[in-house]
Amino acid sequence: MALAAEQRYLRQSRFAPLGEEGQRRIGGAHVAIVGMGALGSLQAELLARAGVGALRLIDRDFVELSNLQRQFLYEETDAQEALPKAVAAARRLARINSTIQIKPIVADLAPRNADELMEGVDLILDGTDNFETRYLINDFAVRESTPWIYGAAVASYGLKLAIVPGRTACLRCIYPEPPSGSQPTCETEGVLGPVTAAIASLQAGDALKILARGRESVAARLTTVDVWTGEIRQTASPARDHDCPCCARRKFPHLEGKLRAPISLCGRNAVQIHERARPIDLAALAGRLSPVAAVRVNEFALRAAVDTYELTVFPDGRAIIRGTTDVGVARSVYARYVGM
Ligand SMILES: [Zn+2]
Repeated sequence: MALAAEQRYLRQSRFAPLGEEGQRRIGGAHVAIVGMGALGSLQAELLARAGVGALRLIDRDFVELSNLQRQFLYEETDAQEALPKAVAAARRLARINSTIQIKPIVADLAPRNADELMEGVDLILDGTDNFETRYLINDFAVRESTPWIYGAAVASYGLKLAIVPGRTACLRCIYPEPPSGSQPTCETEGVLGPVTAAIASLQAGDALKILARGRESVAARLTTVDVWTGEIRQTASPARDHDCPCCARRKFPHLEGKLRAPISLCGRNAVQIHERARPIDLAALAGRLSPVAAVRVNEFALRAAVDTYELTVFPDGRAIIRGTTDVGVARSVYARYVGM
């Protein structure tokens, strides 16, 4: 290791189970973080400071004021400028560690781009807030035999589980189908910064261990944390389902896009439209919309207040329509102002 790198990571490589060899492996590793909200932004900061050689930050959303209570890396100016989270995070991380590669990807992880966005990574961290995307990550991870670390948090509690294909249960061994009925969300139940930070830290800890010591090194126990009651629990490793459609029978419907539908975003009154990629000239769209709506545009996104909705359009044609959870209404707003 060069002297500067030796200095920078001294406290970490001095930790004997990691050591200089572990540090060298971490430095050569490539990690994708899917979702740069409360979990992903702290995972990214921890891994960037730890010297993970290359980070791919995948997020479809932009920074809002209500994110700042728990989402590391972001500042008030990011919210004012409505910067995409991946871009805001990459800028900040580059100031924290200029010696690693950081690639921001403003996109919705979907079946059509999953191979391209996650190709070649050594590990995937879950920073998402929905089961649809987690099943997609799980399908990809099992097919490619890539470890991934599942995490979730709402209100004051959260959970973490490392998934190492071929060795541990996969997400579909544990939840063959998405949980049915309405689930508690960050919008209905709220969420505390300390619990998202705790879960993100546990996920980052597993990530560093796997990168430094290999995929056999990590215990696949389910850890749950409640920062309000102070309760921390670990269950035995969940059993593998020997008839699991994903890791046993190797069927990957989520990756093949067979179960894909427009998503209502967690944590807000909004619908995302993302059926197909079709590049949009944001400046031209801003010109068309400005007579009828208040429009703000930068190179990353266009935001317009239309009727009672807030429409955000990205250059790849994806849009988030806020002010409704009705997919039909969202489609009609999109058709009316962007065009189908
Ligand atoms: Zn499985």
